[in-house]
Parts: sequence; C-alpha cells; structure tokens
Amino acid sequence: MTTATRKRIALVAHDRMKPEMTSWCADHREVLARHDLHGTGTTGTLIADQTGLPVHRFLSGPQGGDLQIGAAIAEGKIDLLIFFWDPLAAQPHEPDVRALLRVAVVWNIPCASNRASADLLAKSAFLA
Ligand code: PGA
Repeated sequence: MTTATRKRIALVAHDRMKPEMTSWCADHREVLARHDLHGTGTTGTLIADQTGLPVHRFLSGPQGGDLQIGAAIAEGKIDLLIFFWDPLAAQPHEPDVRALLRVAVVWNIPCASNRASADLLAKSAFLA
C-alpha cells in the first residue's frame, strides 16, 4: 500500500546513458507505474517501448526537449527529475542541459543524475 500522491516525473538520458535509463525504469517499473511519466523524445520512446509504461513525450533533447521540461518545471508541472546526463561526452545542446539542471535547483525539485541517487528516490516515501 502507498500513501504517495501521483507525481509527475521527468526522465531524460543522453545517448550513451539511455541503456542505463531503460534498465533503471525496468527495475522500478512497479513504482513508476503509479506516477505520470514525461520524457524527452527519444528517451521517452525507448522507455515506453521497453517497459510498456505510458510516457508523455516532449521534443527530442537537442531539438528543445530539455528546455520544454525546464519550462514545465518552472510552471510547477514536474515534481521530480531523473536526468542521466553523460559526464564523458560533450553535448551540442550543452546550454539547454545547464538550463534544465539550473531550473531544477531553482524550483527545488528532487533531482537525480546517476543511478544510485535515482534508486534512493525510487525507494523514498516521495514515490513509494
Ligand atoms: P533525447 O534527448 O531523449 O531526445 O535523446 C535527451 C537529451 O539529449 O537531452
């Protein structure tokens, strides 16, 4: 049983981190199924295909999807961000990445950038 209310979770992963993201979503499928999932275009499609969970998809990250999720956070429409950004590769949309990470801090939403932190959030009372 859970007392957690339905949360709006944003899921974003850079290309080399996408297998980690889909694997994490599969691991926590039961928890995620109780919340509303949002994602950048490619990440969202992969998660939906590989887990069967419904994911509202924004544009692909490099096409503006990160900015759309950042705007949704600023509008109070996202409660939690899981963002597996790639620490070993430069991104063409680096300014958008920084903007998304910044706005998540400004609006003080729980935010995880690696699997260990995302695991903690998935097991927390916030999502349980
Ligand atoms: P994508 O975007 O899921 O559309 O690949 C992620 C990103 O690069 O920010």
